Amino acid sequence: MDKDQICTLIGTNVFDEKFKEDITEESFFGFPLKPLLEAEELLQDPAQKSIAYLSMEFGLAPSVYHTFKTNREIAEENYLRRHQVFSNMRAMDYYHVLPLEKLLDIPIYSGGLGVLAGDALKSSADLKLSLAGVGILWNKGYFKQNFWFREGQIPEELRWDPFTYPGLLPLEKFVKLRLNGEELKLKLWKYYIFSQDKASVTPLLLLDSNLPENPEYMRKLTDQLYRSDNAWWKIMQRAILGIGGLRALQALGYSIDKYHLNEGHAALAFLEKPEKSFAYTCHTPVEAGHDRFAIHDLAQVLNPQQIALIKKLGAESGEVVNLTLLAMNTSSKVNAVAKKHGEITRLQFPSHREKIQSITNGVHTFTWISDPVAKVLDKHKKQIGDWRKDPKLLTQVLSLKDDRGFRQALWKAHQENKKALADFLRHWHFDPQCFTLAWARRIANYKRPSLLLQDTERLLRLSRKVGPIQIVFAGKAHPQDNLGFTYINEMLSRIDSMEGDRKTLRVTFLENYDTYIAKLLTNSVDVWLNNPLPPFEASGTSGMKAILNGVLQLSTLDGWVVEAAEANIGRIFGYVPPEGKIGSERDLKLKEDADLLYRALEDLLSIYYRTRAKNESGEPSEWVDMMVNCLGQAGYFNTQRMIEEYSRRIWD
Ligand SMILES: *Cc1c(COP(=O)(O)O)cnc(C)c1O
Repeated sequence: MDKDQICTLIGTNVFDEKFKEDITEESFFGFPLKPLLEAEELLQDPAQKSIAYLSMEFGLAPSVYHTFKTNREIAEENYLRRHQVFSNMRAMDYYHVLPLEKLLDIPIYSGGLGVLAGDALKSSADLKLSLAGVGILWNKGYFKQNFWFREGQIPEELRWDPFTYPGLLPLEKFVKLRLNGEELKLKLWKYYIFSQDKASVTPLLLLDSNLPENPEYMRKLTDQLYRSDNAWWKIMQRAILGIGGLRALQALGYSIDKYHLNEGHAALAFLEKPEKSFAYTCHTPVEAGHDRFAIHDLAQVLNPQQIALIKKLGAESGEVVNLTLLAMNTSSKVNAVAKKHGEITRLQFPSHREKIQSITNGVHTFTWISDPVAKVLDKHKKQIGDWRKDPKLLTQVLSLKDDRGFRQALWKAHQENKKALADFLRHWHFDPQCFTLAWARRIANYKRPSLLLQDTERLLRLSRKVGPIQIVFAGKAHPQDNLGFTYINEMLSRIDSMEGDRKTLRVTFLENYDTYIAKLLTNSVDVWLNNPLPPFEASGTSGMKAILNGVLQLSTLDGWVVEAAEANIGRIFGYVPPEGKIGSERDLKLKEDADLLYRALEDLLSIYYRTRAKNESGEPSEWVDMMVNCLGQAGYFNTQRMIEEYSRRIWD
């Protein structure tokens, strides 16, 4: 293939001066170029069945997995430095920041939905599917979280430079849309997601309205993910993703058979190709999670024929359109993201009962596993099998439960991970021998972020009676979510109130939760706390990252955990709604569930301190039994199994 053919396939002049040091006929930012061309050829081949995966956000975590190498200078704002910590050791917070200096992860995600989409693309590459992702290049990302003493979370606009971000390519093609009675031109970008063995890739297409030709207010449409000042803004963003996304695929000559809508945000895509086959994944049972728009607001953006179609297929009442309903009506296949979530979704949308399947979420094994644990698994390949080829084989870890050498090695690997965390938090006196627990995720009401801090006196008593405790919190609240903001304030002031008790109880809240911190924490703590109010957590995925590293679960019975609850992966506690009932988010049951949480925590804490010596020597111990059970479950809760299920049951 000559250089011109390569450029045509990719859609831009990759031999331009600016890529001189990073792209050659053989290599692409330190990775092989050939798989890119093979993937492009397949997607552009009409004889090949290909899939488009549309999502508002993608969490790709290149700083923790398959980092592209560049010889070019990277803009300073693409680096992340200076994370602060809020703790019950205030003097430390004042004098130290976290020892963190790394490439910013492409800031086009806000949380679990985006990370799932990113992990799905990685597994699609691992499985060598012909699939392309479609998303938006958020020029100002989500936001940067700062903590101010006594002020709580102060959101700051994030700035980054896509032009010097390693691996991101601006394309030469553009697409045009007519929205709001005006023409909108969209710039296109490409990013390539490599498989584990670097032998295949999945391309990701990103749309961007930040062009000088567009009116100023339109340029800002792709600035900030989930900015929600008004309905018009949200509708414009959804039109860009849905309608613009399909036009972009066409402009690049991709021949797509199946369009997959990851969440209802992209539901307007069907306006572009009403005759096409759509599939839709619903991700939330929380009412506020379903997009609803008034017809008169939609009519500001879309034309009368489009409005008529939407009214027919998505109207909930005369004047309101529900994008979830629209996606369900226009898709031939619909799925929820865990078994329990399937039941709840069927209750919420009884008219679509028959159509709604469940495909349980997963995580991308190779992104989230720590090196020390991966090495232990490699050493026991004979018993486990080639888990790097097929992570489903991790269920075989259970056959090693009585293998003293394996148990000892697993515990040692965990200790190594814990040392890395203790080193990261050394200024806050973290001790790798001490029982460590984390709660880290988006701050959302139903996730009950402050449950563990309901009774700080009791927490203290526990740490004095049974053994010292270290706690790490992290999480961002949406800048326009007042309740989330209040949660953070409340948590910071409770943490502050424990000042002076740091001999037995060290509590920290890390600023600016992202995929890098997610990996650090899910790899290294002893216990992962997950306490949503059932049944509002559709799946949850951070616990899956933890079990992959032998980290025990302390969880309510919700989302994916329902499917692993019998496997003894830690402790399950708390309220369970009556069969067939959804209940309300208004009654969070904080008092009752906090009591049950402290009891379960005491149980785990005492097992931890009782068995430490046995864990070290590989002797039988309840703790390591549970660690092995966790790893065994990771054979199921991964995106390779998940994408295989999508291929078989949704995309056929
Ligand atoms: C995995 C991940 C999440 C999802 O966490 P849940 O427990 O499913 O809510 C959110 N944010 C980041 C940065 C993650 O890596």
